[in-house]
Amino acid sequence: MLLLITMGYVLMQKEHAMSVLHDLAARDPLTGVANRRVAMEQLAKALSQATSRHQSLSLLMFDIDLFKRINDAHGHAMGDLVIRLASGLVKDTIRAVDFVARIGGEEFIILVPEANTAQAQILAERLREKIAALEVGVIKLRFTASFGVTEITDTDESFGTVLQRADQAMYRSKKAGRNQVSTG
Ligand code: GH3
Ligand code: MG
Ligand code: MG
Repeated sequence: MLLLITMGYVLMQKEHAMSVLHDLAARDPLTGVANRRVAMEQLAKALSQATSRHQSLSLLMFDIDLFKRINDAHGHAMGDLVIRLASGLVKDTIRAVDFVARIGGEEFIILVPEANTAQAQILAERLREKIAALEVGVIKLRFTASFGVTEITDTDESFGTVLQRADQAMYRSKKAGRNQVSTG
């Protein structure tokens, strides 16, 4: 009996450890949001789900503007804080069905199911405004981000193509002067 209880306990601990490891492997340690690998899996899943349900799906990508300057002028810790605050703001703003991931240093994607370009654009604008209004630390540092929004209409598209389109739209925001939303 004691042996069975012990074995049961050991198995439970093992299961718990496995789930902790699984969670660690899926999350970006700085922000706690999903990492790039999970984002790509999720994007592929969302694409096939939108296709089978005949629902719209939009992808939003954003990158913090002139971030290198923040690191250089205020230190890496301030840079990290800015990334954490930006991701926290996104988490507080998006719906439960939306999905956010950090896919690069200061670059994020958000999957927005059942949203067309115009609806995703509204979300992007709201996030852009909220980010631009943030004041960080005692020095009340302000920063901005540039957004790219794209809707997935062609169901045969690969997620690579979709990401590329969002990236191109975001790049247009950068080129046009940053702190703005572009669609594509
Ligand atoms: P742009 O407006 O064109 O995006 O300019 P930028 O300065 O934001 O772009 P750039 O790609 O030149 O700089 C990104 C910097 O982000 C470079 C890199 O050292 C820094 N970085 C990447 N990951 C992290 C991180 O986790 N923490 C901090 N503090 N900095 C990071
Ligand atoms: Mg940047
Ligand atoms: Mg970048």
